[in-house]
Amino acid sequence: MRIICLFAFAVAVSFFLSSTPASARFFPNITSIPPWLNATHGAWDSFRNLSGCHPGEKADGLSKLKNYLKHFGYINSSSNFTDDFDSDLKTAIETYQKNFNLNVTGDLDPETVQQIVRPRCGVADIVNGSTTMNSGKTTQSSNATHIHTVSHYTFFPGKPRWPQYNRDLTYAFQPENELTDVVKGVFTRAFSRWSAVTALTFTQTDSLADADLKIGFFVGDHGDGEPFDGLLGTLAHAFSPTSGRLHLDGDENWVVSSDITEATETSAVDLESVAVHEIGHLLGLGHSSVENAIMYPTIPSRTRKVELASDDILGIQELYGTNPSYNGSTSTTTPSSENEGDTVYGSSAQISGSLWGFKAAMAAGFGLLLVL
Ligand SMILES: [Zn+2]
Ligand SMILES: [Zn+2]
Repeated sequence: MRIICLFAFAVAVSFFLSSTPASARFFPNITSIPPWLNATHGAWDSFRNLSGCHPGEKADGLSKLKNYLKHFGYINSSSNFTDDFDSDLKTAIETYQKNFNLNVTGDLDPETVQQIVRPRCGVADIVNGSTTMNSGKTTQSSNATHIHTVSHYTFFPGKPRWPQYNRDLTYAFQPENELTDVVKGVFTRAFSRWSAVTALTFTQTDSLADADLKIGFFVGDHGDGEPFDGLLGTLAHAFSPTSGRLHLDGDENWVVSSDITEATETSAVDLESVAVHEIGHLLGLGHSSVENAIMYPTIPSRTRKVELASDDILGIQELYGTNPSYNGSTSTTTPSSENEGDTVYGSSAQISGSLWGFKAAMAAGFGLLLVL
C-alpha cells in the first residue's frame, strides 16, 4: 500500500514537472493584476548592484553577468566564470554597447546596466559567433568612445526562410494552455502586421501537430535547452525557419488589452508587443540595433510597441517580397481593440499555471501520504 501511494505521488510530481506547458497568467487590463503578484524583483535586478564596476575589479555577481552575456552570444568561453572583471568581460561589454547604441566604454556604466536589466527576448544577439547587428557591421567612422554604424535588420546565419511553396502558413496553440479567444486574438493581430507587408498569409488551425507555427506558454526548463527565468528577464523566444516554435514565459504577467503604458505594476508586459517580435524570428529575422524596430532585442515593461518600423518591413520584404496591396506606408496599424478585454472579461483574471498544478500535485501527494 505504501509503495503504491508513494508511486502515485511520484507519478503525480513527475507528471507535473514534465508537463511544462503552462496556462499562463493573463490579465484583461492593468488594474486586474492583484497586488501580491506585483513583485518588484525581476530576474536580472541584481545586476543593478554592478553599476560603476570597472575592469580589474572583483565584484559579487560578475560571474552571473558573464553567464548572461554568454547566453546572448557575447562570450564564447565555456569555462567556469569568476567574479573578476577580466579582459574577456570588457570586450563582451564593448560589443554589447555597440549593439545597443551605447557609448563604448567597456565599463558597467549606469546606461549600460540599465539596458542589461531590461526585459528582453531570449534569442541571442550573436548567433554562432556572427552578427550583423552594429558590432558586426562595417564601421563608417569612429572616435575614442562612440562608433557610428549603419544599422538595419538582420537574418539568422544562412538566411533561413520559409520555402516558396509554403508561404501560406498555419499556426496553432498548445492545447494544454487552454487559451481564450481574446488571447488567441492577440496573436491574430500580431500575425496580421506581418502579412500586411508581405505575401505571407497566416491561418489558425486546431491541429498543433500539423501547424507550421506552434505557439505555447511554458515555465522554467521546458526541454529545448532554453529555460525561462520567472518574472521579467527573458520574456519569450522563437526559433528560425522552418522550426516554427514560439515559446512565451508563463511566469510573466501578460496584459492582453488595455493601455499598458498606464500600468503602475513594474512587471506588466504587453503580450501583443512580444508576439509581433517573436513572429519576426519565426519568419527569419534576427535582432536589429535600430531602437524603434520591432526586432530590437529589449522592451521595457509597461511598454506597447506593435507597429513594424521601416527597418522591419525592409527586412521581411527582402525574405518574402511585398504584399501587392501594401501601400508603402511604414505604419502597419491594424484595427486594434485596446479596450475590448474590459468588456469581455470585466475584472476577472484567469490565474493558473503549471506551478499551481505542481503545488496541487504536491498537496495531493502529501495527502496520500498522510492517509497511510
Ligand atoms: Zn528576439
Ligand atoms: Zn522554449
